[in-house]
Amino acid sequence: MGHRPKKLKETLPGLSRLIRRFWPQIQKQGGLLILSCVALLLETALRLLEPWPLKFMFDNILLKGFQPAPVPVLGQLSAVTLLSLLCLGLVAVAILRGAMAYFSTVGMAIAATHVMTEIRGNLYSHLQRLPLAFHSKAKSGDLITRVTYDIERLREATVTAALPLITNLLTLFGMLGVMLWMNLELALIAIAVFPLFILVSLYTTRRIQTVARTQRKREGAMAAKAAEAIGAIKVVQTLSLQTMLEGAFAKQNKKSLKEGAQTQKLSAGLERTVEILVAIATSLILWRGVQLVMQNAVTPGDLLVFITYLKTAFKPLRQLAKYTAQIAKATASGERIVDLLDTVPTIRDLRGARPAPSFEGKVHFNNVSFAYDAGAAATLRKISFTVQPGQQVALVGPSGGGKSSLVSLLLRFYDPLEGQILIDGHDLREYTLDSLRQQISIVLQESVLFAVSVRDNISYGCLAATDAEIEAAARLANAHDFIQALPQGYDTILGERGATLSGGQRQRIAIARAAVRRSPIVILDEPTTGLDQENEHEVNEALTRLTQGCTTFLISHNLKAIEQADLILYLENGQLLEQGTHRQLLALGGRYAALYALQSSVGVGIQQRRSPLDPQPYLLN
Ligand code: ADP
Repeated sequence: MGHRPKKLKETLPGLSRLIRRFWPQIQKQGGLLILSCVALLLETALRLLEPWPLKFMFDNILLKGFQPAPVPVLGQLSAVTLLSLLCLGLVAVAILRGAMAYFSTVGMAIAATHVMTEIRGNLYSHLQRLPLAFHSKAKSGDLITRVTYDIERLREATVTAALPLITNLLTLFGMLGVMLWMNLELALIAIAVFPLFILVSLYTTRRIQTVARTQRKREGAMAAKAAEAIGAIKVVQTLSLQTMLEGAFAKQNKKSLKEGAQTQKLSAGLERTVEILVAIATSLILWRGVQLVMQNAVTPGDLLVFITYLKTAFKPLRQLAKYTAQIAKATASGERIVDLLDTVPTIRDLRGARPAPSFEGKVHFNNVSFAYDAGAAATLRKISFTVQPGQQVALVGPSGGGKSSLVSLLLRFYDPLEGQILIDGHDLREYTLDSLRQQISIVLQESVLFAVSVRDNISYGCLAATDAEIEAAARLANAHDFIQALPQGYDTILGERGATLSGGQRQRIAIARAAVRRSPIVILDEPTTGLDQENEHEVNEALTRLTQGCTTFLISHNLKAIEQADLILYLENGQLLEQGTHRQLLALGGRYAALYALQSSVGVGIQQRRSPLDPQPYLLN
């Protein structure tokens, strides 16, 4: 019991934080919510009225002798008229109450759905705007659960728990009020059972909430694990990790089952306790009430109202525990949503950012240093170089040297710790993110295609592209012919991750996607690694056309492929050790020259790092 106040303190701020956070969305549904509340109040009043026709039948018709003070109007009516009126009243109250309950439930449900749909939309767009630094740490399965499951749980709780909870509490207090007005002594007996009930219910609810929270966390972790394993199914099967992963999953699954069973047990136990409390209260009231009736202090009808109220008021109380548990769970879900919404994107448009003009393509890195985590060792150290518009820059050096990190700074996936990156003489951060990224195209080693048509996949490069522009881009990318040969041509829907195309074909669609953007800056991150000779040739041809006249950043392990570059940057350990043209670097006789000599002696095969684990589906098609 000692923990109870702390727990209450914990739940309520959570709830009020949710309401405050979502207030703008709730406010938009204001009209509907007010109407629903009015219906709700009327419903409560009608519920209070329900046993009264019965009371009058008892006191004014059946047992006239017990009547302590005649009710003015009812007394003058004949017994039959009165009976008919009361019977009609009984039905009328039931119908009206039903109608009001219907309006309040439907109204609330519609309002809640509107609110949640809006929040879900906000959450989704917020998620998409969170920087890579966030996404590389977050588990995608967990994020997906928040957008789908947690939101749904919150919506459901408003309609199936919060609304009945409010109705029941109103009814409860209404009934207590009427009871106090009718007979103080009997009312106090009913109230006496209350504290007991509240203690029991709060204690159990607290335990349910704790278990539910753990379970919720576990389910998020399980979804993340499943998503990870399914995403890497090829690796999992190749390494025969299924059994091991199944075992780990089964363990979590079992724990979640146990927790689920525990919450069920707790709430079922609570319901039984409340039933016993109702029985105790009823018998206490009867014990004293019947004596009062015999002393003519109350009428039998009054006693009838009391007993009915007790049952009606306590019945919802039994569910009060269920509702509070459900609300507690939903609050936990809601907090997960708010936590996510409150994650501020570190990479965003700075104040005063303006849309970028059309770039010429001059790129200047001025003493740029960068680290993925503040405090961690720097990934890039004091990098400086300049590229003129239309030039090709090649980034070479051992893996982990910082090549990909360098180009991700250009896309402003991250901001440098020190130094500046200038395009056409202006700091990247002066421009809005969208307008900056719009002018940069990128082709990666493993291109991601979406499970939509080929046409849409290409148009994702530039949503405004016309069909003719899409086709032109596909031709440029050497992709038009094979696309035409697909079952539905440009309208063929690609399998998830583009699994129905060969690696080379996927690359060419990715090149078409880059081409349709017509951006002045192009980034190629080992786009031909892993392709066979024939595919490589086709892709290279496409790339040459794509990069025509563009400032191009090319990351490559194959030094032969970059001999013609206007500028070669040799990166190792985050440092730019050498820069210059192929000739200059050979003449320098440093790292680049050594690497070049090594590659020449073993042939070009070095970059053909193909292995059975490589996720590209060469053999499908
Ligand atoms: P390269 O492209 O030359 O192989 P990268 O730029 O990918 O090199 O990596 C440079 C260094 O930064 C490596 O030590 C790598 O482990 C680290 N790194 C890359 N991406 C991340 C990331 N998202 N979070 C933390 N460290 C990273």
